[in-house]
Amino acid sequence: MGNGIVQDESRLRKRAERIVGAELMDIFEKILAQERLSFEDGVRLYRTPDLTAVGFMANIVRERLHGNRAYYIRNQHINYTNICNKFCKFCSFYAKKGGPAPYEMSMDEVRRRLRAHLDVPITEVHMVGGIDPRLPYQYYLDLLRTVKEVRPDVHIKAFTAVELAEIQRQAKKPMEEVLRELMAAGLDSLPGGGIEILSERVHQELFDRKLDGEEWMNVARAAARVGLTQYATMLYGHIETLEERVEHFVKIRALQDETGHFVTMTPLSFHPEGTELEHLPHPTGYDDLRNIAVARLMLDNFPHIKSFWIMNTPQVTQTALWYGADDVDGTIHEYEITYKDGEFGNKRQVLTRRQLVRLIEEAGRIPVERDSLYREVPSSPEDTPRSERTFIPVPMLS
Ligand code: SF4
Repeated sequence: MGNGIVQDESRLRKRAERIVGAELMDIFEKILAQERLSFEDGVRLYRTPDLTAVGFMANIVRERLHGNRAYYIRNQHINYTNICNKFCKFCSFYAKKGGPAPYEMSMDEVRRRLRAHLDVPITEVHMVGGIDPRLPYQYYLDLLRTVKEVRPDVHIKAFTAVELAEIQRQAKKPMEEVLRELMAAGLDSLPGGGIEILSERVHQELFDRKLDGEEWMNVARAAARVGLTQYATMLYGHIETLEERVEHFVKIRALQDETGHFVTMTPLSFHPEGTELEHLPHPTGYDDLRNIAVARLMLDNFPHIKSFWIMNTPQVTQTALWYGADDVDGTIHEYEITYKDGEFGNKRQVLTRRQLVRLIEEAGRIPVERDSLYREVPSSPEDTPRSERTFIPVPMLS
C-alpha cells in the first residue's frame, strides 16, 4: 500500500489541539498509536456533533495508508434481472405493480451491453440482480462465460451472498463447490451487499426473506476458503440505530480478522424514493461524510474505504476524500438499482475517466486508475492524469 505522506506526529498534535475537543482526545491518542477503537468509541464518533474532528482523525488514517492518492476504476455494471422474490422494504429496484417493469437479460442482451462500451478500456464488470427462482444454475454460468467471451481480460465481480444462496439452491451442491464452478466460468470476486446491516432486528423488519447475518457470514467464509476477494457494504439511513451501525463495523472487522479476504468497505447511503420506506428522509451529506469517516476509523483492517459517487453524489464524494475515503468507484456506465423510474434499458449513469480524474484533482488528491484488486493500471501518455499537480490542502488543515 502506498504511503505518500510522512505524518509528523507533533504537527498532528498541534492541529488536534485546535480541531479535536477534549471529549474526543482519547480517541485521537488511539488513532496516533494505531490502536483499535472499541464499540463505545464508535458510538461516540457517531454521537458527537463535531464532524470536523471525526473527519480530521479519519483523514490521518486515510493518509497514513494511501498518502494523497485517490483511486478510480473503469468499470461497467450489469443488473441482469430485476425480478425478485425477496421484497426488501428498502429496495426500489425489484419489479412490482406501479414500480419498475420486470426484465431479465438474455445472453444476447448482455453481449449487446458489453459491446456498446468496447471502446472504453474497462477492467471490471460488476453484475448483480434480483432473485428469480425460475433461473436455472446454467443461467449464472452462462452470464459469466458470456462476459468473458466478449471481454476475456475483464475482472468479473458478481453475485451477492443472497444470489449465491439462490445459485446454490439451484445447483444442489455445497457452496464451496458452486463457488469453484463459478470461478471456472469466470467469477473473480464478490461484491458487497446482501446483508445491508448486520442487525437481526433490522433483518426481521426490512429483509426477513434474505439470509440472516450468520448465514451471510458463512457465505463470506466459504468465499475466503476458495480464494475469492470480497467487498463489503453497509446500507445506512433507514431504520437502523447508530449502535447498529457500529455493531455492523465491529462484526465485519472481526470477520476480516478471521478471513482477511475483504478489500474495501463502501458505506451506502439509503435512497428512499420508490421504496416502502419512502416516508423517511434521505440521508444528508453530513450523514454521508460521517459514515465514511467512522468506517475508516473503525475498520483498521480494511485497506480501502469507498465513497460511491452514484449514492453520495460526486460533490459529497470529493469532500469524502478528506473524510476517510480513498476510492470513488468508477465509470459505471449503466446502473439500475437506485433509479426511481425503473424502465429497463434507459439507465445510463456515467462519469467518464476524464470526469473522474477532474473530480479527484479538484479535491486536491492524486488520481490513480486501479483494477479490481487495487493494482495501478498504466495509462497511455495522452491519458495520463496530472498526477504531479500541486497539493491543494482543504481549509481545515491549513
Ligand atoms: Fe431483491 Fe436485492 Fe431488492 Fe432485496 S435488495 S428485493 S434481494 S433485488
